[in-house]
Parts: sequence; structure tokens; C-alpha cells
Amino acid sequence: MRLAVISDVHANLQALEAVLEAIARQAVDAIYCLGDVVGYGPDADACVDLVQTHCAGVVRGNHDDAVALRHGLSELPADGQIAARHNRVQLAPRQRHYLASRPYVLTAHGCTFVHASPLQPEAWHRLDSAMLLRAQFQHFDTAVCFVGHSHVPAVVSDALGVYEVRPGRRYLINVGSVGQPRDGDPRAAFGVFDTDTFRYDLVRVPYDVEATAARIREENLPDTLAERLKRGR
Ligand code: ZN
Repeated sequence: MRLAVISDVHANLQALEAVLEAIARQAVDAIYCLGDVVGYGPDADACVDLVQTHCAGVVRGNHDDAVALRHGLSELPADGQIAARHNRVQLAPRQRHYLASRPYVLTAHGCTFVHASPLQPEAWHRLDSAMLLRAQFQHFDTAVCFVGHSHVPAVVSDALGVYEVRPGRRYLINVGSVGQPRDGDPRAAFGVFDTDTFRYDLVRVPYDVEATAARIREENLPDTLAERLKRGR
């Protein structure tokens, strides 16, 4: 089974459309989404509908909670709070309900899918220490767990010095972000994983960043949100 895994779309329609086109060329069997469909970007409504149509499974992120339920809204950065309030008004009640009814963790095809971390998924941990990374492996039962949240792609194994994904080991894989990459590469990111061979590829897709930046200004969202897309940080 070939899976495409997307995360952190953040209401960036141009990036999501480019990624869905790239996924169509990859001949995958199913698409999973790790949450934060909304927040930061200008086109929450169109992105929720596209994700709902194309994904076999979707988990909830902290921005989905902030937009759909106002949960954790005050903990977001200032520009993120403005965008979350904008997105909340933009979404129809059925779309807010869709986001609010996603699970925090999903298991399918021998993989775990969660937004931030399998350890306390609702605490939105940042996996920024080796100790916290190690601890995650006790909190999922499958060989592979996919995460997003940091917007920085990474592969971490339960064995030291193993960086290539292969059967017989366990992995925590961050697929990066579709709509707001932060690893210095402005191209949209997603992962493709073969559950039989364990082949994993991170795919980068260029998209019309200027068009998204123009939409951000059109919707009167903070310019910082447009500028960071160009830098990929
Ligand atoms: Zn995010």
C-alpha cells in the first residue's frame, strides 16, 4: 500500500492544489492528513473541503482546535491569532464541525498518524530534545508514526545511527508542511510511504507563493504571514 501523508496545510490553497496534483502523479492508494488544515493562511474554506474530499483519514491539529472551537487560541503567536479568527468566520458551521470532530490520533495500515506527538497528543509538544524524541517510541504501537507540527521534515529511528527507513526498525517521521514550510525551502512538502517495502520519500513541490501572498494581503491578514512563505521559515 502506497500512502501519501500531508500535514500543516494552513489554509494555503495554492500549495494544497500543487501537492494534490503531485500526489496524483505518485499513484498512491490513500492520502492521510496530520492536521492544521487551517490557520495562518487565507483560504480555510476551500482547503477544508479539498482535504475532506481527498483524504482517507485526517487528525486534528492545534490550529484546527483554535479555529473550530477557540481552544488554545490565546496560545498562538499574535499573527496566528488574527488568522485563526479570520478563518473561523470564513468557515461554514459544517466545516467547523468537520474539523472539531477529527480524532487526535489515528491508526491505519500499520501506521500511526498524529499532529504533534504520540505522547499526550493534545499537549502539542514540540519534539525539540533528544529525550522527548526517545520518549515518543513508548507511545505508539506501530512500526511507523507520522507527525507534523514543527513544519520541518525529519526521520528519527529507535536505533541510533539509522537514517534510512527500512523494515525491522521503528520510525518517527515528520513529513514537513504543505502550506508553511520552515526548513528554509519554500516549496511545499509531503511524504510518500510504501507500507510493504518501507520505502519513504519526502517530496518537494514548487507552487505559486506570490499568489498565496497576494491572497493573504487581500484578506487583510498580517504581512508577516506572506513574507515567511517566501523565505520558507
Ligand atoms: Zn502547523
